[in-house]
Amino acid sequence: MNINENEISKLVKSVILEMTDAGAHPMAVTGGSKKQKGVFDTMEEALAEANKAYTLFRHYNKEQREKIIKKIRELTRSEEEIMAEMAVRETKMGNVYHKILKHHLVADKTPGTEDLECKALSGDRGLTLVEMAPYGIIGAITPSTNPTCTVICNSIGMLAAGNAVVFNPHPHAKECSAYAVDLVNRAVLAAGGPENIVTTVKNPTMETSNIMVNHPSVKMLVATGGPGVVKMLLSSGKKAIGAGAGNPPVVVDDTADIEKAGKDIIAGCTFDNNLPCIAEKECFVLDSVADQLIDAMRRNGAYLLRKDQIQKLEDTVLVDVPPKNPGDKPRKTINKNWVGRDARKILAAIGIDVGDNITCIICETEFSHNFVQEELMMPILAIVRCQTFEQAVDMAVKAEHGNRHTAHLHSKNVDHMTAYAKAICTTIFVKNAPSYAGIGFNSEGHTTFTIAGPTGEGITSARSFTRQRRCVLVDSLSII
Ligand code: NAD
Repeated sequence: MNINENEISKLVKSVILEMTDAGAHPMAVTGGSKKQKGVFDTMEEALAEANKAYTLFRHYNKEQREKIIKKIRELTRSEEEIMAEMAVRETKMGNVYHKILKHHLVADKTPGTEDLECKALSGDRGLTLVEMAPYGIIGAITPSTNPTCTVICNSIGMLAAGNAVVFNPHPHAKECSAYAVDLVNRAVLAAGGPENIVTTVKNPTMETSNIMVNHPSVKMLVATGGPGVVKMLLSSGKKAIGAGAGNPPVVVDDTADIEKAGKDIIAGCTFDNNLPCIAEKECFVLDSVADQLIDAMRRNGAYLLRKDQIQKLEDTVLVDVPPKNPGDKPRKTINKNWVGRDARKILAAIGIDVGDNITCIICETEFSHNFVQEELMMPILAIVRCQTFEQAVDMAVKAEHGNRHTAHLHSKNVDHMTAYAKAICTTIFVKNAPSYAGIGFNSEGHTTFTIAGPTGEGITSARSFTRQRRCVLVDSLSII
C-alpha cells in the first residue's frame, strides 16, 4: 500500500487528537503548541464558558463526578514531574523533587465525593434531609508558592462538590497554572465530562481578578495567598473562603527527643525551600537543650551563622518598606528575589560557600528580630533561647501574629501540648513531626493546599465548597 506525506500527516494528527482527548500529555505529542483547554484570552470568556459547562455539569451525579476525580488523580500522578519542573522554572522558587512529592500528595489525599454527607432527621413529624449542594461557579485565586498543586487540589474538591471553577492564578505562575487547568480539563473530557468546567485566563492580573470577583455568575470566592488578597475577597460581599498567611513557630522543650526534633525541624523548614505556609518559620527552645538542638540541626544539613554574619544576611534578604506617612517607624519586609531559594545560593550571596549537603541556614537571635517576626518563606530559621516553657509559648503566640494558621511542638509532656494548643489557637498543631505532617504527609488525615484559618473552614475539602439545602416531608416516610 502506498501512503503519501499528506496522508501520513493526517493520520498522525488524528492519532494525536485521539491521544489528547483520551488524556495523554499534550506537550509530549505537540511540543506545547496546542491550544490549552480551559485557558482563555479574557476573563469574560473564561466566565461565559464555565457557565455553559455548569449548565451541563449540574446534572452529573456523584458517580459521574467521582469518575472525573479519578482521572484527575491519574493525570496528576503521570504529569507530576512536568508540573514540578515548570513551577520551579517559572517562579524560580522551590525544589523540583519536593514539588513532585506535593503533587503526589494532592493526587492521593485530596478528598473526592466521599467527603459529601447527607444528614437525615427522621421522627414523629416525618423526614427531613440536609444535603450538601454545589454553589455553582466558584472564583478561585491561587498563589505562586504552590501554584499547580493548589489548582489541582481546588479543582478536585470543587468539582467533587458539583461546582465549576474559574481561576485567577498568580501572574508569576500563570504558565504552570494554565498547564494544570489544561490537565484538569483533559481529565474531565477523558472521563466523559463537559468542556471548560474549569477555566482561567492566559494573563491573569488584578483587573481580571476584579472582573471575576464582581461577576454576578460567581457565587463563591476562594482565596489562597497573603493578607492582601484575603482582605480583598472578604470585603467582596460574597460568600468567601480565605486561606491566608502564617508564620508558624516551633517550640522545643526539655522533654523532647532532641535528636529527632533537630532532624524533623530541618526537614519541615527546608521542604520546598520553606514555601509551604505551614513550614517552621522560627524556633523557641528551652536554654537547657538549645546547644544540643543546634548540634542536631547541624548534623542534619543546617549551617549556623556567626553573629557578625546575621546582619549581612538581613541586609540581603530583607528590604526597607517605604514609609507611608512622615514619622512612620522604619520597617523591613522580605526581598521577594530570595523567597523559596536554595540555602546554598542565599549563603553564596553573603560570601559563604558551602556544599550541597547544606539545606538550611540557622542563627540565634532576639525575639524582636525580623527573622522571627516576618514570614520569610526562605530556608532560614531564627532560634530564640527561652528560660521557661511558659516564656516560649508566650513568644510563639506573639510571633504567630494571630494568624491562627499553624504551630509546632517537640515535647513528650502532655500538659505542655495542651497548654500550647490552648494558647495559640491555630488551625493546625503538629507535635513531634516535621510541619508537613499537618497536611497529611506521612501522617493521618486528608490533604489540602487551601488552609482556611481566617474564615474557619480549616483543612478545606469538597464539603467546604458546598451549601446546605434542606428537603422536608411532613408526616410521611418516617417508617417506624
Ligand atoms: P500573594 O498574596 O502575593 O498572591 C496570591 C494571589 O493573590 C495571587 O494570585 C495574586 O495575584 C493575588 N493578589 C495579591 N494581592 C491581591 C489583591 N490585593 N487583590 C487581588 N488579588 C491579589 O501570595 P503568594 O506570594 O503567591 O503566596 C504566599 C502567601 O500565601 C504567603 O503569605 C503564604 O503564607 C500564603 N499561603 C497561604 C496558604 C493557605 O492555605 N493558608 C497556602 C499557600 C500560601
